[in-house]
Amino acid sequence: MKPNIRVGYGYDVHQLAEGEEFWLGGILVPHTHGAVGHSDADVLIHVICDALLGAANMRDIGYHFADTDPKFKGIDSKILLTEVMNLIREAGYEVGNIDSTICLQRPKVNPHISEMKRVLAEVMEMEVEDVSIKATTTEKLGFVGKEEGVSANATVLIYRNA
Ligand SMILES: [Zn+2]
Repeated sequence: MKPNIRVGYGYDVHQLAEGEEFWLGGILVPHTHGAVGHSDADVLIHVICDALLGAANMRDIGYHFADTDPKFKGIDSKILLTEVMNLIREAGYEVGNIDSTICLQRPKVNPHISEMKRVLAEVMEMEVEDVSIKATTTEKLGFVGKEEGVSANATVLIYRNA
C-alpha cells in the first residue's frame, strides 16, 4: 500500500522595478523597488501555491488563475492561496508542513520572516511552527544578485485527511 503522504515543489521568479509595491510572503516590504506581475507578484505565495497544487497533482497556479484574466489583475495573492487551500482540502488533503526559501539580494528579508510566517499560517489555517521561510542572497551573482529580480522555492508535504 502507498503511504498517504505526498510531496510538492514550487519555483517562481518575478522582475523587480522601481516604484512598485513589494509584496512578499503576504506582507508589504518597504523598499525602493517591488516585484512586477499580473497579480500582486508575491513570489513566495506563488511558489507555495505551486508546491501545494503539485503535491496534489493539480497542475499549477497559472492553470487555475490565468495571468491574462482581468479578474486576477493586481489581486492579493493571499486570495489565490486561500483558493488553492480550498482545492487541496476539497481533494481530501491536509498540509503537513511547508519549507521555503526566498532568494533576494536587497532588502534583508530576515527582519520580516516572523510576520510572513504569522500571516501565511493564518491564511492557510496552519500552525506557525509548520510554516518555514528561509532567506538567502545569491552572493551578488545572476539576476537576483544584480537586483533585477526575486525568486523563491518551496517544498510541501500533504497527507490524506481520512
Ligand atoms: Zn509569480
